[in-house]
Amino acid sequence: MKIDQLYQLFLESEGIATDTRSIRTNQIFFALKGDNFNGNTFAWQALKKGASYAIIDQEEFAKDDRYVIVKNVLQTLQDLATYHRTNLGLPLLAITGSNGKTTSKELIYAVLRKKFETIATPGNLNNHIGVPLTLLSLKPTTEFGIIEMGANHHGEIQRLCEIALPDYGYITNFGKAHLEGFGSLEGVVTAKSELYDHIKTHGKHLFLNADDKVQKKHLNYSPNYSFGENPAANVKVSYEMHRETAAVKSEGENYQSSLTGSYNAVNIAAAICIGKYFEIPEENIRKAILDYSPKNNRSQIIKAGDNTLLMDAYNANPTSMKAALESFSRSKAPNKVVILGDMFELGKDAAMEHQEIVNYLEKSNFSTILLTGENFSQTNTDEKKIRRFRNFEELKRALEENIPEGAFILIKGSRGMALERVESILKNR
Ligand code: ATP
Ligand code: MG
Repeated sequence: MKIDQLYQLFLESEGIATDTRSIRTNQIFFALKGDNFNGNTFAWQALKKGASYAIIDQEEFAKDDRYVIVKNVLQTLQDLATYHRTNLGLPLLAITGSNGKTTSKELIYAVLRKKFETIATPGNLNNHIGVPLTLLSLKPTTEFGIIEMGANHHGEIQRLCEIALPDYGYITNFGKAHLEGFGSLEGVVTAKSELYDHIKTHGKHLFLNADDKVQKKHLNYSPNYSFGENPAANVKVSYEMHRETAAVKSEGENYQSSLTGSYNAVNIAAAICIGKYFEIPEENIRKAILDYSPKNNRSQIIKAGDNTLLMDAYNANPTSMKAALESFSRSKAPNKVVILGDMFELGKDAAMEHQEIVNYLEKSNFSTILLTGENFSQTNTDEKKIRRFRNFEELKRALEENIPEGAFILIKGSRGMALERVESILKNR
């Protein structure tokens, strides 16, 4: 089937489904394959549950003309997304970077919605499947699209750019995340810069953090629009903290957020910069930032008995871990406790990166430090206030025996460590 014919079916449908458990009537089912499943085997079920068509790539599963056989289902999904995006022709901003993509995306979304009918990547659907699905959710009435792009290998961002064809690009930062796939920090820079390469040849405009060493080099690219403390920036900002929450001052205005973590000030500044570029009234930018509150264990403040938790258990890598610790160390709370879990996907650098965190903690002003995971338990330290546990069960036992009192507690680790479980231990007391 040709892509324009498939597009016709898409326009007549109620959208796309890739999971038969949540499928709705008159959706088109795309039979994607994963490591542990083959969507082709679910195609009949999708049709039985009301899908109008099933796009499959193994002929033997086709039973009637509601099955559309293609060479590769994923490729077809991506092609259809590009076709749709091109057909709508709306402005699109792509966001990538090592840390802060989702937070920046949510803040920018909050700001742009004040003026445009905007659709942004839901949650964290930022890969080769999530990006096309987000594109296919754009409506004829949508005026602006925001696409989060994630990557852990070279070439991925380039591919996502070919699919989404963004006009605008913003890279949050270049940090030590996914070193396993990128090799080194230089590897991260080239991989993320694939977005810049795309915008420079096919897009329109770069948004830049003029204080970032790598991004500074692109300030001579025109057109760009930048923010930062750097006097050369288009939108000059200064970063502040007000009672544990990040704030930004810019051109005489104060932008207060409810986000903890000083690193969030940069994410806020990016949203101000992009809002100003698209001529959103200053008052609306301020309100959008003030009203935004984070979800999903990203820098959330939670009360647990007489302790206050700074729950940042959503994810961790060396750059975000250090940013979180530095920010936390500036808190004036008298009894600061940190509970950290291993950082994953560091490859050969794992031991060294965990040791660096421990070295930092040895000099810190935290009263108690609890570390859990294979990597942390293999670090070296003589510091008495640092306690290490091989796994969560050991940490749990130690916490139950010795519950902190009246403490401010930072909780952070890689997704797989699921340190949000600490909350119920502390609450059940
Ligand atoms: P993922 O790769 O999981 O999609 P992400 O890039 O979308 O992550 P967020 O979910 O916004 O990032 O934030 C994850 C964590 O990264 C935060 O909880 C915080 O610890 C850290 N972080 C957020 N913004 C920054 C920043 N500008 N600089 C450094 N670290 C940051
Ligand atoms: Mg994200």
